[in-house]
Amino acid sequence: MDGEQKAKAEAWFNTHLSAVCASCNSHLGFTILPSTVTPIKLGENNSLHMGGEIIPLVGLLCNNCYNIRFFSAILMGVTPKELPVRGPAPDA
Ligand SMILES: [Zn+2]
Repeated sequence: MDGEQKAKAEAWFNTHLSAVCASCNSHLGFTILPSTVTPIKLGENNSLHMGGEIIPLVGLLCNNCYNIRFFSAILMGVTPKELPVRGPAPDA
C-alpha cells in the first residue's frame, strides 16, 4: 500500500474497530500489514487456480497474539472497486 492507502486503512480501523483484540483481549494494539493480499482459489484436488476474481484484503496483525484479520480493501475505500486497466502506450 502507498502512504495514502495506509492512511485510509488506519483511519477506517480507528473509526470501525475496538482497540481490544477480539482473539486475546489485549490492548497492545495492531499493525497494518504493508501490502494488500488476496485469497487464492483452489481447483479440483486442491490444484492452484490462477486468474479470475481478485478480492483485495487489508491484513491487521494483533501485536500480542499475532492473529491476523482480513478486511475488504474495496469496502474500506483503500483500493478502487475496479482495478485500473492499462491501455496501450500513447505512442503505440
Ligand atoms: Zn490478539
